[in-house]
Amino acid sequence: MLNSNNVRRLALEVGFDDCGVARTNALTDDEYPLRSWLSKGWHAGLSYMERNVDKRMDPRLLVPGAKSVICCVSAYPPPSSRGGVAAYARTREYHKVVKDMLFRLRERLGIDGKLCCDTVPISDKHWAARAGLGFIGRHTLLVTPRFGTWVNLGEIVTTEEIEIVAIEETKNENSKTASLLPGQDNPSSPDPHAAFCLKCHRCIDACPNHAIAPDDPPMLDVARCTSYYTTHHPQPLPVGLDAGGYTQGCDLCQLACPFNHRQTPKN
Ligand code: SF4
Ligand code: SF4
Repeated sequence: MLNSNNVRRLALEVGFDDCGVARTNALTDDEYPLRSWLSKGWHAGLSYMERNVDKRMDPRLLVPGAKSVICCVSAYPPPSSRGGVAAYARTREYHKVVKDMLFRLRERLGIDGKLCCDTVPISDKHWAARAGLGFIGRHTLLVTPRFGTWVNLGEIVTTEEIEIVAIEETKNENSKTASLLPGQDNPSSPDPHAAFCLKCHRCIDACPNHAIAPDDPPMLDVARCTSYYTTHHPQPLPVGLDAGGYTQGCDLCQLACPFNHRQTPKN
C-alpha cells in the first residue's frame, strides 16, 4: 500500500514544494464554515459558491468511493513591493503548471484519480489544512510554515487507500515543514502556529475595508474585499472602499501576517 511519505517524495520530484494526504470523511462545519459564511451573504456575487455545497464538504460526492485526497503545494515568490498587481495575480498561469505537475504525479503513482485545480468544487485550502500542510489563518488563507501564504494548491482525489505516516523530510529540505503541524492522525496535539494566530490581529487591522471577521471562525466579507472587484468580478470599487494602492488584487492582509516573514513569530 502507498503511504503518504512515498507520495510526498514523488510530489517533490515532479516539482511541488510540499504534499500531504487527507482521508475523505467530510469536512466538518468547524473545519470549513461554508454554510455559515453563505448564510451571512458574505459571498457577495460569487453565486457559484451556493452550488455543490455538499460536494465542497465531501469529496466522496465528487469521486464515488474516494478514500484519499492528495494535497499539493506549489510556492510562488512573495511580492517585492507593496501596491500595483498583487503577488497571486502575477501567477495566472499557475493552473496549467499545477495541473501538469498533478498529471505527472498521478502517472508516477500509477493510480486513478480526479485532478483538481480551481475548476472543481473542492476547497483546496481546507483539504490542505486537513492534510497537515498548514492552518487557516484569520485572513482565511492557508498558512504554511515554510512558505507562508504565498502558495498555489492542487489535489488528486482518489479511490486509492493511502497510509498516513509521519513526514520524513528529504536531505534538500531545510525546513521544519509539516513536523510542526499536526496532521489528521494527530488531531489532539495543539498547533502552536494556529494558537498564535488566535491571539493575533494583524491582518484584521491591516485591511483598510474591515473585510476580515474579528472573531472565530476565520471568515471574509467578500463585498468589502477590493480583490473581488479588481480580479474576480471586475467592476468599479463601491464608494467607501480603499484599494490600498493596488490595481489588481490586494496583498495587504498577507503582508501583515507574521508567518509571511519566514521566522516563527513571537507574541
Ligand atoms: S485582500 Fe485586501 S481588501 Fe481583501 S481582506 Fe485582505 S487586506 Fe482586505
Ligand atoms: S496576521 Fe495574525 S491573525 Fe492574521 S492570519 Fe496571520 S497570524 Fe493569523
